[in-house]
Amino acid sequence: MWDRPSDLNNVETWANIPLIINNGAAWFKKIGTPTNTGTKIFSLTGKVNNTGLVEVPMGIQLRDIIFNIGGGIREGKKFKAVQTGGPSGGCLPESMLDMPVDFDALTKVGSMMGSGGMIVMDENNCMVDIAKYYLSFLEEESCGKCVPCREGIKRMRQILNDITSGAGKESDLPLLEEVGHCLRDSALCQLGGSAPNPVLTTMQYFREEYIEHIKLKKCRAGVCKDLITFSIIEEKCPDCGLCVKACPAGAITAVGKRKPVVLDQAKCIKCRTCYEVCKLGAVKIE
Ligand code: SF4
Ligand code: SF4
Ligand code: SF4
Repeated sequence: MWDRPSDLNNVETWANIPLIINNGAAWFKKIGTPTNTGTKIFSLTGKVNNTGLVEVPMGIQLRDIIFNIGGGIREGKKFKAVQTGGPSGGCLPESMLDMPVDFDALTKVGSMMGSGGMIVMDENNCMVDIAKYYLSFLEEESCGKCVPCREGIKRMRQILNDITSGAGKESDLPLLEEVGHCLRDSALCQLGGSAPNPVLTTMQYFREEYIEHIKLKKCRAGVCKDLITFSIIEEKCPDCGLCVKACPAGAITAVGKRKPVVLDQAKCIKCRTCYEVCKLGAVKIE
């Protein structure tokens, strides 16, 4: 700072210093792994039962954090992915739940420790939509100084827009990879350098979802509005009326006499409310 040698660290790092001075380096090194010592604080959020800040020893398994400390997935749903490191971290699949959580291991699988964010996703998250969401955030954060980041993030986000709106092409996948690698290798700072992580990791670990969006025009999680329709499963609907009251578009009407309600596709704005309020599983998304 002001052209003088400067030491810039975050509060979490500074919080460790008095403990190391008071207890000694050998004590500190007993926590964690030989190459990644000490503890790490994660902000555990998303679809887990217990959210909040958790301090864990380096090297702990992802499964321990999510299922033991986090209490597992909400509403008994199925775990799909965990993103570590904040908006530009990678999304890791179920097969990696037993990996140790430390700087080196996360970097090796395309993610990072980053800001210590840990967002858990379940079967109702669409991984293509997730990648698009984080890129949109990073697009706004980009300062615009260098071309790879300023243009690269925008182009990748546009391609993801196409894919999630049903206009995706098979050639989009290699193009996303090419732009992502170029951005990673040539951006001026780490914002741009790490920005492709959510896209590259979801393409690596959840590629089948990209292919379904592009080839079958389907979103298995029922998230991408242009690729889904809502309908009533008649044999499951006893006309309880909950969705009729809740639908903000007046797209569902009761016909009375305990007959199934009727959903008007032309009026439906695909807000998902009927699916959420129906306690009998009588609303189908496909
Ligand atoms: S990589 Fe860094 S310097 Fe380049 S545009 Fe992005 S934020 Fe700015
Ligand atoms: S998805 Fe939303 S708009 Fe469509 S029928 Fe259900 S509640 Fe109404
Ligand atoms: S909430 Fe479910 S059961 Fe009730 S009327 Fe709507 S679809 Fe039928």
